[in-house]
Amino acid sequence: MGKKLIIGNWKMNLDMHEASLYLHKLLDTLPSHRDVETVVAPTMLTLQSLSLQVNRRIVKLAAQNFYWRDHGAYTGEVSATQLRGIVDYVLVGHSERRHVFGEGDRDIRAKVQAAIRNRIQPVLCVGETAHERAADETRDVLHDQLVGGLANVTSEEIPEIIVAYEPVWAIGTGENASPDDVKQAAKIIRNQVEHLFGKKAAGSIRVLYGGSVNVDNAADYLATKGVDGLLIGGASLDAHQFSEIVKKAHKV
Ligand code: PEP
Repeated sequence: MGKKLIIGNWKMNLDMHEASLYLHKLLDTLPSHRDVETVVAPTMLTLQSLSLQVNRRIVKLAAQNFYWRDHGAYTGEVSATQLRGIVDYVLVGHSERRHVFGEGDRDIRAKVQAAIRNRIQPVLCVGETAHERAADETRDVLHDQLVGGLANVTSEEIPEIIVAYEPVWAIGTGENASPDDVKQAAKIIRNQVEHLFGKKAAGSIRVLYGGSVNVDNAADYLATKGVDGLLIGGASLDAHQFSEIVKKAHKV
C-alpha cells in the first residue's frame, strides 16, 4: 500500500485566528514526509484563508461538508465547484451528517459524484451504531452504506475514493473499536468493493479508521492490516497531539 493518510476533523471548532495559529504550529513541527499525507478539515469559514497560508506539500485541506449541486438557487450552501483549488478532500456522510442532519444515501451518493466531478477526493464515512453492533448488523450496515454511497461510481473512479470506517459508537466517546474489529471491517469494505467493482478496485481503494483515536492508540490502528490511515476528531484539535500522531504514521 502507498502513503498513510491522516485527516484531522476539527468539526465546529476553532475560529479564524485559532485555526491560523494551529496551522502555523503544524507547519512548523511537521516535516514533509513522503510516506504520510496530512490533511486537516477546518470549518468552511476558515478554508479560504487557510488555503493561502498552507504549504500543500506538508498539509492539505479538506471540507467537512458541501452541497452536491454545482451552482444555483441553494441559499446558504457551498458547492464542490466553489471548493475546487481550495481543498483536496471532502468528507461525505460523516456520522454527524447522517444522524444529526438526516443525510441519506441519495444525498451521500450525489455528493460522492459531485466531488469526483470536481476533482476533489471524497472520504466516504461508513459505520454502524451501537444498536446495530449489538444486533450483529455491522456487515449489513457497511454493505448498505457502500452500495448506497458508491452506486453511480465507475471502477476507474475508485482509486480517487477513500472509505473511512467510523463506528458511530466510537466517535467522540473514548470507546474504541479493537484493531481486530477494524481489520474485519476493512476486509468487509474491500470485499464489498471487489464485489461491486472488481479485484483491482478493491486493492486501490484506501480505507481509514476513525473513532476516538489518540496519541496512545494511533500506532495500533496504523499497524492494522488493511488500514491506510486515520480520521481523527477530538485529538486533532490540539496541534501538538495531531502532529505526534502524524509522526507515528511516519514510523509505522
Ligand atoms: C470524527 O469526528 O470523525 C471522529 C472520529 O471523532 P473522534 O476522533 O473524536 O472520535
